[in-house]
Amino acid sequence: MELNERAELDTSQANDLGRGGGSGGGGIGIPIPGGGGRGGIIGIVVAVLVALLGGGFGLNAMTNGDEGGQAGGGDLDQVCSTANPDRLDDARCRNLLYVNSIQAYWQTAYPELGNGKYEPTDTNFFQAAVNTGCGQADSGVGPFYCPADKQVYIDLSFYDELASRFGAKGEFAQPYVLAHEYGHHIQNLLGTNAKAGQGDQSGPKSASVRLELQADCYAGAWAKHSTESKDKTGREPLFKSITQADISEAVQAAEAIGDDSIQERSGGRVNPDQFTHGTSEQRQRWFQQGYDQGDPKTCDTFGTDQL
Ligand SMILES: [Zn+2]
Repeated sequence: MELNERAELDTSQANDLGRGGGSGGGGIGIPIPGGGGRGGIIGIVVAVLVALLGGGFGLNAMTNGDEGGQAGGGDLDQVCSTANPDRLDDARCRNLLYVNSIQAYWQTAYPELGNGKYEPTDTNFFQAAVNTGCGQADSGVGPFYCPADKQVYIDLSFYDELASRFGAKGEFAQPYVLAHEYGHHIQNLLGTNAKAGQGDQSGPKSASVRLELQADCYAGAWAKHSTESKDKTGREPLFKSITQADISEAVQAAEAIGDDSIQERSGGRVNPDQFTHGTSEQRQRWFQQGYDQGDPKTCDTFGTDQL
């Protein structure tokens, strides 16, 4: 994968909330209990809530992420400006570039789904904990989409977890994660997740699994078209190239976070009744389906028995 050094990033699509940021608070700190005891419980509650809403990334078995210190709350306008020659070394700017690409794709692809225009939304970078329209969340829940405020939330230290604990080390795992979360935004705009909310929330053929596999397929559809996406000037591509190795990294990430793999890793038996996101094999296959077809209309996980 090669990012375009000359691309101008649209910083209006992301916010850096820093530590304890919140949509309502404007930087007012959230009391985070020391040691993480109570935070853990909150984390689990939010994980369940997010899983029910179809927003979580499938790491509900995770414990709290470490609260490693990175600088935060910075001004993305400055940090990610073309005037900063090192900006693409900054994880926030790289992730902003991915978000720009994903939303540029949906600007074109969403109207073809026959539901009007795409409605862009922001990604919020936070550290440790965050207030959202879906309640308070901590990093332990992994990245998620909140349908109530229609925004994506991610603690970028999640990628370290993904690499160290789940073995998904490749850089392209990152845009895959974001494209999956934007897949939930698409489902929210289409009303798919509201409908799915009335179905089963766990089990191998549950509405929850169908939503998650569809979000993986949408991520694949974006990946197929990622090199076509342009920066905010409309002139420069955001990605110069994507290779087969990048796609393999996304597939590997999808494989690493299947329900069965996570259950095994956390020392339990594989219990399909508790599946919420699909197996490793299914997550890989639906991402690949989206990538091979390059068309979100082929991501109909609700209309098939062949999940
Ligand atoms: Zn998801």
